[in-house]
Amino acid sequence: MIPDMTPSQSSLKESVRTFAREWIEPEAREYDEKGVLPYETFRRMGEAGFLGLTVPAQYGGRGGGAQEYAILCEEVARASAAYIHNGHYQTVAMLTRQGTEAQKLEFFPRLATGEWLAATAISEPEVGSSFKQMASTARKDGPNYLLEGYKVHINDAAEARVINFFARAPGGLTVFLVDTREPGFKIVQKMDPMGLRASPIYEFVLQGYRLPEKRRVGAEGQGLEVFFSAFNFSRIGNASCLLGIARGALEKAVAYARTRRVGEKTVLEFQGNRWNLAEMATQIEGASLLRDKAAWMEDQGKNSALESSMAKLLCAEVSEMVVMRAIQLTGSYGCYRQAPFERYLRDAKSLCIAGGTLEVMKNTIAARLLPEGEV
Ligand SMILES: Cc1cc2nc3c(=O)[nH]c(=O)nc-3n(C[C@H](O)[C@H](O)[C@H](O)COP(=O)(O)OP(=O)(O)OC[C@H]3O[C@@H](n4cnc5c(N)ncnc54)[C@H](O)[C@@H]3O)c2cc1C
Repeated sequence: MIPDMTPSQSSLKESVRTFAREWIEPEAREYDEKGVLPYETFRRMGEAGFLGLTVPAQYGGRGGGAQEYAILCEEVARASAAYIHNGHYQTVAMLTRQGTEAQKLEFFPRLATGEWLAATAISEPEVGSSFKQMASTARKDGPNYLLEGYKVHINDAAEARVINFFARAPGGLTVFLVDTREPGFKIVQKMDPMGLRASPIYEFVLQGYRLPEKRRVGAEGQGLEVFFSAFNFSRIGNASCLLGIARGALEKAVAYARTRRVGEKTVLEFQGNRWNLAEMATQIEGASLLRDKAAWMEDQGKNSALESSMAKLLCAEVSEMVVMRAIQLTGSYGCYRQAPFERYLRDAKSLCIAGGTLEVMKNTIAARLLPEGEV
C-alpha cells in the first residue's frame, strides 16, 4: 500500500496550487504565444523554494524526493507544464546521486534559489532515442578536457547557466557540467516548437570549449550510469506534468459545461456527457495511482524503471484523451485559442516525445516483463 500524503506534502500541494493559480494561470497563454521564459515567475518560483524543492536540505534546498517533485509538476502543469524545467531537476538528481561534494557545494545553493537554471543536453542530430551515434567528444588536454559537439532540441540552453553535457570521452560516454558563460559555448538557433513554449528550445555548439576535470560528473565512461540514476525520477516528472494537464483540462471543461445551457439543459445534464466525465475522472485516478506507486518506489530507493515507464505511458495516453474530450465537451468554446485546451494538447503531445518517447517507454516495459532473450 502506498501511504497517504504526509502533512508536509499536502501543504506543498496547496502552496503550489495557490502559486500556479495566482502567477502562472494568468500569464500562461501570453508566454506560450511569445515563446520566451517567464523570468519574473521563474524568480518567484525560486523564492517560493520550488526550484530547490529536490536539492538536499544541507545545501540550501527543501530535500524533497520524487513524491514532492510529482506534486510540484502536477500542480504547476494544471496551469502550464512549460513552467517545469525538467532539465533543472534532472541535473539536481544527477548531482545528488553522482556529484562530488565540491560540485554539490558549488552548484546546489545556486540551483536551489534559481540564481542558476540548469539544462540537460543529450540530443544531437543523430542522437535521440538511442545514444549510440553520440558525436560530441571530450578529449584530455593537460589538466582540462576539450569539448566539441552540436546539440539539438535543448530546453533553456540560452537561459541556463549550467548544462549537463553528454559526450564521448576516451573512456566512453561521460557527463560534464558546462558553464554557458565560458568561451566556446554558442547558441546556433532558437527553435519554434509546437508545445512547452515557455521553456524555449535551442540548438547550440561547443567549439574548443575547455573545462577542468572537476566539472566531470562521475568517472569517464559512466555517462549511462549518471543518466539512468536520474532518468526514472525525471520520467515521474513527465508523467506528473501529463497528469496535471489532464486535471487542468477536465476541471476547466467541467466549469464551462456546468454553466453552458443548451436549450432547457446545461451540457452536464446530458447523460452521455456525465458518463464522459465519469470515464475521464476514472482514467485520471488510475494513472495517478500508478504515478504515485512509481514515485513512492523511487523514494524507497527501489528500481522504478518499470513503474515510472508505465506511469509516463499511461499518463500520456490519459492526458491526450482527456484534452481531446475536453474540447469536444466544450463545443465551439473549446476550439478557440482563447480557451486553454489547444495549448494543453500541444504541451501533452510534446511530453510524449520529450524525456523519452512512448515507444521507448514500451521498450523499457517489455524488457522488464519478458525473460532475457525474448526482448
Ligand atoms: C519539446 C521537446 C523538448 C526536448 N528537450 C530536450 C532537452 O532539453 N534535452 C535533450 O537532450 N533532448 C531534448 N529533447 C529531445 C528528445 O529527448 C528526443 O526528441 C527524443 O528522445 C526522441 O528522439 P528523436 O526526436 O531523435 O526521435 P527518433 O529517435 O528519431 O525516433 C523517431 C520515432 O521512432 C521511434 N523509435 C525510435 N527508436 C525506437 C525503437 N527502438 N523502437 C520503437 N520505436 C522507436 C520513436 O519513438 C519515434 O516515434 C526534446 C524534445 C522535445 C520534443
